[in-house]
Amino acid sequence: MTQLGTAARPLRVAVVGAGPAGLYAAQALLDRPDLLLTVDVLNRFPTPFGLVRDGVAPDHQSIKAVTRVLERTLADPRVRFLGNVTYGVDLHHRDLKRFYDQIVYAVGAQADRRMSVPGEDLPGSFPAISFVGWYNGHPDYRDLPVDLDCERAVVVGNGNVAMDVTRMLVRSPDELAGTDMADYALAALRRSRVREVVVLGRRGAAQASFTTPEVRELGRIEGVDVAVDPADIELDEASRAGMEEDRTAKANLRQLQEYAARPPGSAPRRITLRFLTSPVEVLGNGRAAAVRVERNRLEVDPNGGLRSKGTGRFEVVEAGLVLRSIGYRTVPIEGVPFDPATSTLNNIAGQVVHPSTGEVAPGEYAAGWAKRGPTGKIGNNKPDSASTVAAMLADLPELNGVADDHRDPAKVDAFLRRRGVDVATYTDWQALDAHERAAGAAQGRPRVKLCTVPEMLEVIQRAR
Ligand code: NAP
Repeated sequence: MTQLGTAARPLRVAVVGAGPAGLYAAQALLDRPDLLLTVDVLNRFPTPFGLVRDGVAPDHQSIKAVTRVLERTLADPRVRFLGNVTYGVDLHHRDLKRFYDQIVYAVGAQADRRMSVPGEDLPGSFPAISFVGWYNGHPDYRDLPVDLDCERAVVVGNGNVAMDVTRMLVRSPDELAGTDMADYALAALRRSRVREVVVLGRRGAAQASFTTPEVRELGRIEGVDVAVDPADIELDEASRAGMEEDRTAKANLRQLQEYAARPPGSAPRRITLRFLTSPVEVLGNGRAAAVRVERNRLEVDPNGGLRSKGTGRFEVVEAGLVLRSIGYRTVPIEGVPFDPATSTLNNIAGQVVHPSTGEVAPGEYAAGWAKRGPTGKIGNNKPDSASTVAAMLADLPELNGVADDHRDPAKVDAFLRRRGVDVATYTDWQALDAHERAAGAAQGRPRVKLCTVPEMLEVIQRAR
């Protein structure tokens, strides 16, 4: 029997998605000195790095330094980057099963969660995922009709994405001009009339899911006041008890108390953080003009947690832009069992499992947000992907002896060529990267992003 992962029969792995989770999984495999393998990293766009490119806020450039680590994985001679290849379109589930021994789905969470309130889809009311994609030059969102011709925006949600979009709306465009923010977004922000962003947390200050550096950063933005009503952050008994062991919640509360103690400011722009408040309707005649909100209180849920409950006290907050930043959601992908309850690929510790039978899908794995849901910072993916790889390695003996007919890397190339797919290789990405960086250097910016796939391919083809 041929043993997989040896010179006689190197292991062939496909990673679907070139974001941090996928690349950390690839690296964890490459780090095994005993394993001979080649890894193909498939990616829908010619640009790798997932949310590092398309999600991280432009004013957080230092976080993007992780790209250097991820780049080393792509540069490994055992790895091929197959960019501009869409899973389910250019390569189907059956194709991957034919060409690879093991497949890691690291497709992230590409959709938003919904508020399920009337008016949520009015023009001017968007999911944060679209707004983030818009300012980051993600090809799917470059044409989002963002209209900043209003004085107030409401951001729903109390996570770090809510902090990101809030900063983008109030930060001076001159500061953002030195970043890799998409040019059209920068131009739109220069015309913005937004003066206040109201952030709505449905639960209390002690339950906010943002982290302390992010809420602290709001108070350091030039030309921006942060307003918190002291009454809004008074804690009930249960919240106080729940915070005892939670260092982040305590530090968040201290920061919020500091904001609440500040005298009213006169800066040109303002962030107002409100708690125990839920949107119940987006109001407007043809486009968002206001949000009807309800005051909440907290009650203990059956699991002992604290959940929000409407009190029947309503008010209307005028706002011409409404961003719901209430979490991302993985969407089902072709051929892979999905768990609608958690909006993740159905898996146990990274191993894809059929929900009806409980049977393992042999050689198929999940990593990142598609595995565990949309939580955690970029670095959290490293140990998480390593745990998926541990499951992959444990399965290797089961996969031994599989016929080798299609496991030749050249066969994937030939297959994609026959289908007319213009695969963007790592060398192509390097050319695109150099082009974007050169354009950025001329303006004192890290890069000027190309925001459509045809533009990217044009640069790539010119460089070949
Ligand atoms: P998140 O941390 O899960 O926050 C989601 C927020 O939405 C929570 O405050 C949640 O409140 C609220 N929410 C959910 N459903 C709601 C509803 N129907 N109405 C009102 N509020 C609702 O998610 P995220 O902000 O999208 O961030 C995703 C992950 O990326 C997080 O782990 C985050 O830390 C990470 N991230 C990190 C950074 C950074 O490091 N700077 C930047 C961006 C993202 P409840 O708690 O009441 O459910």
